[in-house]
Amino acid sequence: MIKLDELSYSIDGKYLVDDISLNINNGSVTSIIGPNGSGKSTLIKLISNELEPSKGYVFLKGIKNESWDKRDLARFRSVLTQANYLSFPFSVIDIVKMGRFPFESTKEDNDDICIKLIKMLDLESHINQNYVTLSGGEKQRVQLARVLAQIWSSESYDDKLLILDEPTSFLDINHQCSLFNLLKDFNNKGLTIIMVLHDINQAIQYSDKIIMLKESKLINYGDVKEIINSESLEKLFNIKLDLFTNKNTGKTNISFIENE
Ligand code: ADP
Ligand code: MG
Repeated sequence: MIKLDELSYSIDGKYLVDDISLNINNGSVTSIIGPNGSGKSTLIKLISNELEPSKGYVFLKGIKNESWDKRDLARFRSVLTQANYLSFPFSVIDIVKMGRFPFESTKEDNDDICIKLIKMLDLESHINQNYVTLSGGEKQRVQLARVLAQIWSSESYDDKLLILDEPTSFLDINHQCSLFNLLKDFNNKGLTIIMVLHDINQAIQYSDKIIMLKESKLINYGDVKEIINSESLEKLFNIKLDLFTNKNTGKTNISFIENE
């Protein structure tokens, strides 16, 4: 689905993404983790084709970044950027409907999809509210509904890609849980997902693969079980961490070690 080939992005001689090569399979969930400023959002923008690489290429479905038709791209992949929260006075439903712009489906179909998503994201009581007056978490859920409207399919999701930059940053724990359940449902239908997550426990619980970025470089990429351990995480974040197995999920959990 995604192939990065010696991908680099630099500004004024400074590399924000430095020589990254990797492949991401169809139908996988991949999380990018790493310290602040390590290049996660820049990498996401390169993969989304919102930034042009300084060197190297991004191939999506085998097509090189520079060869994509804009409209085809918009129908195939959908992107939630970090806090792109516009300040125009649109209603919630109007913003979700923007996700349907690249498609020629009927007004009825589009309305139907958008209403379904508004329900899924617990926004029914806000449907006609002015977006500007929403809380941070509500705005984030509206943006999530919009990007999901853009990849919505009545058939299969095998051919669709969802890219999310810190999708849970403003959500309470209840809405975080519903979002991950929702993403799991879409992934079970074939959707490929790549996202930036700050919560390592969530990255472990909900991903197949993890990308570790540090100082613009790829430090580690692989199956969660293979690359998540105290050594790799302590090296990534420069902090001592406590790793243990969660009895309910059977997966690794991490927490800080408190100063004595
Ligand atoms: P992350 O998402 O991992 O926190 P980013 O990809 O947003 O990091 O940014 C990586 C680094 O590049 C940061 O140190 C950021 O300050 C810097 N950076 C991002 N955009 C620019 C820019 N346009 N000009 C200069 N530096 C930038
Ligand atoms: Mg970022």
